[in-house]
Amino acid sequence: LDPLMQEALPVIRKLESGGFEAVFVGGCVRDSLMGRPLADIDIATSALPEQVAALFPRTLPTGLRHGTVTVRSGGRTCEVTTYRVESGYHDHRRPSEVEFVDDLTTDLMRRDFTINAIAMRADGTVVDPFGGIADLKRRVIRCVGDPEERFCEDALRMLRAIRFASVFGFRLAFSVWKALVRCRELLRHIAMERIRAELEKIMAGPDPGRGLALLTASGLAAYTKEPLPEALRAAKRPDPGSPLARCAGGLSQVAGLSERLAALFMMAGASPEDAASALKTLRFPKAETERIVSVVRLHAMTGGGRPLGEPVPVPENPVHSASRTQWIDAVLACGAEAADGWLSIAGACRLVPSDVQAQRRTWLKELPAASVRELAVGGSDLIRRLGLTAGPAVGRLLDKLLREVAYGRLPNEREALLEQAETWNKNR
Ligand code: ATP
Ligand code: MG
Repeated sequence: LDPLMQEALPVIRKLESGGFEAVFVGGCVRDSLMGRPLADIDIATSALPEQVAALFPRTLPTGLRHGTVTVRSGGRTCEVTTYRVESGYHDHRRPSEVEFVDDLTTDLMRRDFTINAIAMRADGTVVDPFGGIADLKRRVIRCVGDPEERFCEDALRMLRAIRFASVFGFRLAFSVWKALVRCRELLRHIAMERIRAELEKIMAGPDPGRGLALLTASGLAAYTKEPLPEALRAAKRPDPGSPLARCAGGLSQVAGLSERLAALFMMAGASPEDAASALKTLRFPKAETERIVSVVRLHAMTGGGRPLGEPVPVPENPVHSASRTQWIDAVLACGAEAADGWLSIAGACRLVPSDVQAQRRTWLKELPAASVRELAVGGSDLIRRLGLTAGPAVGRLLDKLLREVAYGRLPNEREALLEQAETWNKNR
């Protein structure tokens, strides 16, 4: 048993000593059989939720109605769920009825994929009625039961299929692929937040390019409840060997989820506005959205904006030949953090030749100040010295000073900056 499962063993033992059946199920069994690190521990039991609660001193009624109780054991928690069947999927997402049952196989039958429908007993023996272990070995995602029926019950499973295929490097069984294409319109029943969560897992995985290709090739990407920008929906799997394919492969070399998302937008040729609207549609938090959009904007300001790697001859490719002024202007407008993000994407995806990268890195490093926060004066200094009132004019003055400093026309020193501001103010 995996060490994390070992830690949860007392929970299973306790349930067994109460006369109930209890087993590990779901992701932890699958991941331990694959030798992957476990995310969380799920236990299924024949005990009813109130019987579970009665056995353990400290429990949380996580989803009592659905049969889930959170139990603390040692320093950790695990979710204990009563064997159950689900029915009444009227809205293609959540079951309206849950019925507790006393049989493990019946519980495993409601689970989405064979690799997620394996149970493991305390002694390490497995219960695998749907051939999940064989599918793990063959590296294939197969539904428990008829894929069309299962996707029709809960359309989120379509995204989960693609997520597991892309994160594990598995293929989709042909029956699953056919059902994906047939049922894709049902995706509109799924909340954008849940789509976001799956997308994030795909993007964080080892081969996001493949997950995205499956999303677009199946047509799923075009059937979200709120439409994603055309640029994203149409981001087709590029011809292998093409420069775009090289960039898509590079996506997995990009560190950090935000940077990967920025790279995706750049690759799709999305404008900063497209990127902002896609992230809003997908309910990304505002701060993360701004971080990502700044990188896309910096890319657009330095010659990007068409799909990356589109075969433009090197000397004419505006991304390659952006001037120092273009680069510095973009850094001032988008921030040094965006520039760092862009440079790391450029390195991973080989956006521009390495000498161009090195040149821009140097320009960035040599910048005496990249934002007004780094200036030797602040807004209140200007207000005091020039007798201004707070307002947008102060911000404009600071921006103007920043440009002078960034381009080396003025030292970043308090007196020099205040004098310059005074001169501008007098000549106004
Ligand atoms: P991970 O935690 O790595 O995302 P997981 O397989 O553990 O993967 P969870 O969402 O934690 O996924 O769900 C635990 C188990 O519950 C799954 O392994 C599966 O057996 C079942 N399950 C989860 N979501 C669904 C669903 N939409 N339809 C059917 N079964 C599901
Ligand atoms: Mg899990």
